[in-house]
Amino acid sequence: MKRLTLWFTTLLLVFSGMATADDYTHTRYPIVLVHGLFGFDTELGVDYFYQVPAQLRAGGAQLFVAQVSAANSNEKRGEQLLAEVERITAMTGAGKVNLIGHSQGGPTIRYVASVRPDLVASVTSVGGVNGGSRVADLVRVVAPPGSTTEAIANKIAGWLAGLIGSLSGHPGLPQTPTAALDSLTTAGTHRFNKAFPEGVPATRCGEGAYSVNGVRYYSWSGTSPLTNILDPLDGALGLLGSLHGEANDGLVSRCSSHLGQVIKDDYRMNHVDEINQSFGLVSWFEVNPVTLYRQHANRLKQAGL
Ligand code: CA
Repeated sequence: MKRLTLWFTTLLLVFSGMATADDYTHTRYPIVLVHGLFGFDTELGVDYFYQVPAQLRAGGAQLFVAQVSAANSNEKRGEQLLAEVERITAMTGAGKVNLIGHSQGGPTIRYVASVRPDLVASVTSVGGVNGGSRVADLVRVVAPPGSTTEAIANKIAGWLAGLIGSLSGHPGLPQTPTAALDSLTTAGTHRFNKAFPEGVPATRCGEGAYSVNGVRYYSWSGTSPLTNILDPLDGALGLLGSLHGEANDGLVSRCSSHLGQVIKDDYRMNHVDEINQSFGLVSWFEVNPVTLYRQHANRLKQAGL
């Protein structure tokens, strides 16, 4: 009898453990991941948020990966995302979604939450361009409006964005690289923030409001342009990182990434580590990026979102 009780207790423990593991990322509302500039949902079978969707689904989340223009303004991308959010909420009957955006995905999801807060439970910006990018500013200096350099760069970037759109199975999305660039400069971001101020810090490196119009706002980012010698992107990010003059992830400065509640702004991660790229090549001395997404989904779950 004693042995049977022990067996039963063990079985119960195992099953309760499994239930916890399966439910860890089971949020009330679906999660929608939104890519940045030159981003995609899935390209040739590779996730932009590398290995993140599968891990969040395994923990019980109802997960969607959005595809908007690889290169366009925050507002244009925002309108495309809004249409996708309307489709998802109608399809699932969930009423709202949790939006998680990387890089330009940050202002893109902010746009949707600003114009349709009724459809959004939370906004989470990862390495988001919420206060402009020094790199975009410098590109604008090298390629001023109307210059030949701008025309050439626009052609190349437009071709690249079109290729990304086609390879990810969305060839029809409009690509306007100069509009993307102007959205990402410090001046462009300030204009955007005036029109869509929700969650933006009042002081340059402070936190923003945690909740606006019933939407929760969160952010996190990294400050290590060089993290893994095996990742071919580290060289470029290291070089770009040296242009900032302040802590940054290679493309976005620590303070520029702030939005709403700042979970942490100095992970040992560069801009692409934040989405577990390239192919999981990240720092060996930092929490795994996929774990961060899992923990955050659990945070949303705990908050009833
Ligand atoms: Ca990396």
